[in-house]
Amino acid sequence: MFNAKAYAAQNEKSPLAPFTIQRREPRDTDIQIQILFCGVCHSDLHIVRNEWGETKYPIVPGHEIVGRVVKAGKGVKKFKEGDIAGVGPMCDSCRDCENCKNGVEQHCLNGTTFTFGSDDKISGGITQGGYSETITVDENFAVRVPKNLDLAGAAPLLCAGITTYSPLRFHKIGKSQKVGVIGLGGLGHMGVKLAKAFGARVVVFTTSQNKIQDAKRLGADEVVISKNADEMKKHAKSFHFLLDTVSAKHDINSYLQLLKLDGVLTHVGLPPEDLSIDVGNLIAPRRHLTGSLIGGMAETQEMLNFCGEHEIVADIEKISIQKINEAYERLLKSDVKYRFVIDMASLK
Ligand code: NAP
Ligand code: ZN
Ligand code: ZN
Repeated sequence: MFNAKAYAAQNEKSPLAPFTIQRREPRDTDIQIQILFCGVCHSDLHIVRNEWGETKYPIVPGHEIVGRVVKAGKGVKKFKEGDIAGVGPMCDSCRDCENCKNGVEQHCLNGTTFTFGSDDKISGGITQGGYSETITVDENFAVRVPKNLDLAGAAPLLCAGITTYSPLRFHKIGKSQKVGVIGLGGLGHMGVKLAKAFGARVVVFTTSQNKIQDAKRLGADEVVISKNADEMKKHAKSFHFLLDTVSAKHDINSYLQLLKLDGVLTHVGLPPEDLSIDVGNLIAPRRHLTGSLIGGMAETQEMLNFCGEHEIVADIEKISIQKINEAYERLLKSDVKYRFVIDMASLK
């Protein structure tokens, strides 16, 4: 084990501050990555502030990691020293259960090891995330980043990208479909770019008047201010698919009413509070409410390759690690366009 610089929260009320963590020396199948960029996901904030319960402190968040391989174990096949690698929200799983074998390691029946805040079955202790100078992972939980993509812009693909790509693919979104993206934040703006790249007609639902122009620039065909009931009504029973990325309590019933027969609303946002559902909105006309958690490793690579081919990266605001607490406050005000990415060179 060796020391690594990081930023951690010591409890749910404390700001993130410099902290030293332990990383393992690479085993045969491990790579050690010097972290260049790490995206700031709203899940980082939920966990740092213990909004979902059960956060184990101290906690180093961060699961949109892009960096350079500085060491590769003898058995590593996919990477060599100097390569660029990405690490997303998970870093290990049993690889043997039905779900792992089916490529959905995020649903490992023996417990997925998430990149931070999980019991670390390899090194002991708790896993610590990407707000750090370096990370060691098994090569099977790292992905290759297409060479043509800007590295800072590619970092958010590791969570915001795959979390929106996976349900759009699962529900076979394509041409001639009307798709709504609810909430134009980190996930939402990737959802717009990807749904558009798949050929859908895309409508953005936002609470922020000042995001209308951006939504159109990002590819939206139409923008609805969701607080305006009349604007909402115009879209009643018209959507094939809705992707709900909202991070806080909101009225999901007003969106269910916009689905046509057999339309699907997939929730990827994880508000800490329960949402209430009027089941009448599911029954007539027959509608489907589902959820989705990130995506498996093979699908994450597929998404990155797709983004490489279509030159898709996140719209980012680069910050130094010293600005992270300020960035969290802005995230809470929906004031991010559209993903903060930490330039890890600032962690010196
Ligand atoms: P984000 O950048 O903060 O975006 C969330 C957006 O939701 C905001 O920009 C805002 O959009 C809208 N919003 C916020 N508060 C709202 C409210 N009270 N009422 C209505 N709309 C509101 O967050 P993110 O990083 O995209 O993450 C979004 C959620 O997804 C979080 O809960 C996160 O934990 C979760 N998540 C889930 C997965 C998964 O695998 N399922 C993966 C990653 C993240 P407008 O300004 O446009 O209204
Ligand atoms: Zn995330
Ligand atoms: Zn498993």
